[in-house]
Amino acid sequence: MSTITRRLPDWMKTPLPSGKEYVALKNLAATQQLNTICVSGNCPNKAECWGASTASFMILGEKCTRNCRFCDVKNMIPDAVDLEEPIRLAETIKTLKIKHCVITSVTRDDLDDGGAALWALTIRTVKAVNPGITMETLIPDFYANKELIQQVIDARPEVISHNMETVRRLTPKVRDIARYDRSLKVIEIIAASGIVPKSGIMVGLGETEEEVLQTMDDLLKAGCRVLTIGQYLQPTSHHLKIEEFIKPEIFIKYREAALEKGFKMVESSPLVRSSYRAERHVHA
Ligand code: SF4
Repeated sequence: MSTITRRLPDWMKTPLPSGKEYVALKNLAATQQLNTICVSGNCPNKAECWGASTASFMILGEKCTRNCRFCDVKNMIPDAVDLEEPIRLAETIKTLKIKHCVITSVTRDDLDDGGAALWALTIRTVKAVNPGITMETLIPDFYANKELIQQVIDARPEVISHNMETVRRLTPKVRDIARYDRSLKVIEIIAASGIVPKSGIMVGLGETEEEVLQTMDDLLKAGCRVLTIGQYLQPTSHHLKIEEFIKPEIFIKYREAALEKGFKMVESSPLVRSSYRAERHVHA
């Protein structure tokens, strides 16, 4: 099912993806049975990112045990863990000469370790096959279990992100199973490790500006240093409705407020997604 685009304001329109880098990445990901969040999440920046040989890969399959109301990833009983996935991903990244990669996963509440061991194996394998690569890992909440998150930390990605997705009041409506305070705890654990902690929210879901500013304060208190803010887009008619298209000038206001409050790097504009310009965040 495709993104609902009919009522998009001009500032939300993006070119269709094309070009040889785009085609190469698309074909290789398909033949290697790898999932990209760019496709699964129907990201509006595919043209820009894939054209620059940057992509966000999604590990641990394409079926999620949770059912967040904004997300187009399939909610089904997941397949068994594929232990060959890390090496296929590492080789694909090598073939594509990717210098910075973003890796995320579905949430695997069906596994005792939430998929932490495969996460760690993936990070180590990608680094071993691609010396010098930098990496952001966008992780699920692992129920804020410190030992599980530590497995990801010990594999030493440069950035670990965990998205709040929305403000406190809207969390039960927007996310499934996740809790606002639990996600803050995840950020706290990442921040304590010395690895760059990053988070992201979507706006246009009915939140107030005060609530967005409060979320910034909560994240900073937890130790977060990099923030992304982008417009929510409704993937299909079965998903949460867009309450509002937030104007570009409000995104600028949010960016300035976040930097003033203490974030080191902030990406805030209508088309920003959590992995947008992610290569810059290694330096936060
Ligand atoms: S946890 Fe929620 S946001 Fe993440 S993949 Fe599953 S359904 Fe989507």
